[in-house]
Amino acid sequence: MNFSPADWREHFPLLEKFRAESPLHYLDNAATGQCCYAAMNAATAFETQSRANVLRGTYRLAERADAAYEHARHQVAAYLNAASADEIVFTSGTTASINLVAHAFGDMLQPGDEVVLSLVEHHSNFVPWQLLRERRGVILRLLPLAADGRLDLSRLDETFTPRCRLVAVTHASNVTGAVSDIAPLVEAARAVGARVLLDGAQAVQHGPVDVAALGIDFYAFSGHKAFGPTGVGVLWGRGKALAALPPFLGGGGMIEHVGVERTTYASPPRRFEAGTPPIAQAIGLGAALDWLREQPWAAMNAHTARLAQRLLDGLAVLPGLTFVGPHDLRERLPIVSFNFEGIHPHDACQVLDEFGVAVRGGHHCAQPLMDYFKVQGAVRASIAPYNDEADIDALLAGLKDAVRKLK
Ligand code: PLP
Repeated sequence: MNFSPADWREHFPLLEKFRAESPLHYLDNAATGQCCYAAMNAATAFETQSRANVLRGTYRLAERADAAYEHARHQVAAYLNAASADEIVFTSGTTASINLVAHAFGDMLQPGDEVVLSLVEHHSNFVPWQLLRERRGVILRLLPLAADGRLDLSRLDETFTPRCRLVAVTHASNVTGAVSDIAPLVEAARAVGARVLLDGAQAVQHGPVDVAALGIDFYAFSGHKAFGPTGVGVLWGRGKALAALPPFLGGGGMIEHVGVERTTYASPPRRFEAGTPPIAQAIGLGAALDWLREQPWAAMNAHTARLAQRLLDGLAVLPGLTFVGPHDLRERLPIVSFNFEGIHPHDACQVLDEFGVAVRGGHHCAQPLMDYFKVQGAVRASIAPYNDEADIDALLAGLKDAVRKLK
C-alpha cells in the first residue's frame, strides 16, 4: 500500500496548523506523539453525546458511556492481539502500569526473590523496582549490555537463577531505539518459572503489537506516545497472570462487596481500575489505535527507516560527533541519540529551536544508561511517519549552525 507523510500529517491538527503558520520540524516523538483527529473526535463525541460516569449508572446516558468505554477496551485488545478485552486495564500511563505490577505482583514476593532488569531501562521501569527492593528485600539483577547499549543476551544463565520471579525490560529503548530480542528472555524466564513484563512505551507507536506471539505476561504503554490523548495508558496482562494479582489501589469500582470487616474484589480488569477512570481519554486512545491498526505499517516503517538513515548519514560527517548507542539501523526504531564534543545537549537544542526543530536534550530519564555511556546527556531525534526529508534536513542544518556557534 502506498504511503505519503503529507497525507498522514492531515490527520494531525497541530502539525497542519504549524505548517500553515511557521515551520515546525517535530522530532520529539519519543517524548510524545502528536494527537490524531481520530482520538480527538472520539473523545469529543463522548463529551458532547455520552458523558456520564462509567460502571455505575442505570440510565440510558450512563449505558452509552459504559458502552463507549468498554468498546475502547476491545479496540486496544485488537491492537495488541490480546485474547480478551478483559485483559486490558486502563491506567494513567506506562509509569502507572509498571507501578501497578511492581506493587500487586511485587508484594507477593519474598525477601531474596529476584527481578531481572537492564541498564537501558527508563526510570519508569527502574525506580519502581528499587522501591520494591526497599519494601520487600528482593534482589535486582541486571542484564549485561554490549558496547553500543544493546542487551547482551549471550550469558543469560548467569542472570537467571531459580529465585528469579520476574523479568521487566523495555521492548525498545527510548535512547538508542534498539529493539530488545524478547524470545530468548521469555525462554530463560520460563525455564525458571518467572513472569515477563515489557515496557512498550516506545514500541507501540511503530505498529500493532502481538502480545500472544511475544509470549509475555504483561505489557505497559502510554496513550500519548501512540498518537492518542495524554493521561491514559494500558496494562495488558495475560488472563491468568492478571487474575493472580491482588488489587493495588483501593476505591470505588474495584470491589465486589465491601463489608466492615472484609471486602471482596471485582475480577480483572475492574479490580485494577479504582476510582473514576480517564473515560474520554480511554475512548480517544481506543479510536487512535483502531485508526493506527489500519495503516500501511510496512510502508510507514520503511519510510521512517529511510529518514533515520538520512539522519545517520548526515550526522556521520559532522565534526566531533559521537553516537549514544548504535550507529547502524539493525533492529532499531527511528530514534537517534548523539553528542558533540564540548557542546551541552541543551545548548544544541536551543539553537535547533531557532530552526523550528523540536528535539530533546538531556538524560531522557535513563541516567543508569547515561552513566554506562559516561555522558551527562544526549540530543535525541525521534522520527514518526508524519516526518519527511525536510525535517531531517532542517535538523542537520541546525546542527551545523550549532557546531559553528557553540564550538
Ligand atoms: N518507558 C519508556 C521506554 C519511555 O520512553 C517512557 C517515556 O518516555 C516511559 C516509560 C514513561 O512513560 P509515561 O511518562 O507516559 O508514563
